Amino acid sequence: MTASIYPTLTDPAAAGHAWVDVDLDAVRHNAAQLHARAGVPLIAMVKADGYGLGAVPISRALGASFADSPPADGTDLAGSPLLWGLGVATVSEARALRDAGCTARILCCTPLLAGEFAEAIALRLRPALHVESDIVTWASIGGGAWHLSVDTGIARAGVRWDEVGPLRKVLPHHRPEGVLTHFQSAEQEDGSRELQDERFRVVCAALADVLPASVLAHSDNSAAIAVRGRSDASLVRPGIALYGAQQHPTLDLRQVVHLRARIVDIRLVNAGESVGYGATWTATETRRIATVPVGYADGYRRHLSNRGQAMVHGARVPVVGRISMDMTTLDVTDVSCAVGDVVTLLGGEAGRPVEAGMTTDAVAARAELSPYELLVGLRLRLPRAYVGHSFGGGT
Ligand SMILES: *Cc1c(COP(=O)(O)O)cnc(C)c1O
Repeated sequence: MTASIYPTLTDPAAAGHAWVDVDLDAVRHNAAQLHARAGVPLIAMVKADGYGLGAVPISRALGASFADSPPADGTDLAGSPLLWGLGVATVSEARALRDAGCTARILCCTPLLAGEFAEAIALRLRPALHVESDIVTWASIGGGAWHLSVDTGIARAGVRWDEVGPLRKVLPHHRPEGVLTHFQSAEQEDGSRELQDERFRVVCAALADVLPASVLAHSDNSAAIAVRGRSDASLVRPGIALYGAQQHPTLDLRQVVHLRARIVDIRLVNAGESVGYGATWTATETRRIATVPVGYADGYRRHLSNRGQAMVHGARVPVVGRISMDMTTLDVTDVSCAVGDVVTLLGGEAGRPVEAGMTTDAVAARAELSPYELLVGLRLRLPRAYVGHSFGGGT
């Protein structure tokens, strides 16, 4: 069973008020797309509980090995190596995966404090290190494989590209398994990726004699994979694209997340009457208003007040009035619907294609959020229902 503290629905049809369908087949499809594009195995970034969607089921769906399933690292959907391992940001995220029986390689990209090393070792976590004393400490207390983190311009972690020289002393004695860098704005195609690429290339060349010949170099996030195409690195580290967002013409990503709720109230509002807190919307004629039990406490952001859209029985209906903590109101005048019917606030209705305006990217844009923030926000009290491959597979 998952160690997640978030509820999981096993029967979406019996779902109560509101829930998120997570399409694990779509996750696998997106991983295959990224793999085909990059041509090298993935470190699937499942930090922040799989961008809010459930690190354990996502990892299982991607073929990461678990104690109760055959070792799958290095094998995949199409028989070629798809997954090298998983990427997390904290020791606790690694612990949640291990508690669920995950035996895959796990890389932690965020710097650890020395006080966390012992647990990281117990969890067989691969840390990203860059400080000489940390590298020595890690080895001296029995730490295993680790990756050298190089800052080529994001300036938040890693050894500066122009200050790697002093590490030449320790590297021959403590050799990293991998060497990584991270892009500051690969999605903007502003030339910064090329500059960071060049710095990374220079660092790797300068350290070539003190790095193992087999060192695993990796830099590309989703945006870099999309724009670069075939990678000459050893691995790539996609996150957001696995979850169906940051669509790009070079990829054919499928929607993973579908936010659904049942209508709990329908009422008529007369001309001149307002709906919701602050009376931000007023009917100009008699309108039919449906209430769904989703609000900003569920991650359906307040900024979507009077801007959001939802699907009900194949029709697109507008959010009217302000989104409150627990409820959202929709103008359903033009659609035949009843209390108990399912509304989709993000993604596609079951059995229907996802409309362009309902994708994670589109809804995030309407909410003036990054798709990352939209996804990781959908977690507070929304149960998740897994559909597709791993559904019923012990997640
Ligand atoms: C989050 C993260 C990624 C994945 O980035 P996406 O833009 O979600 O693909 C890759 N590498 C590191 C170090 C990260 O922190």
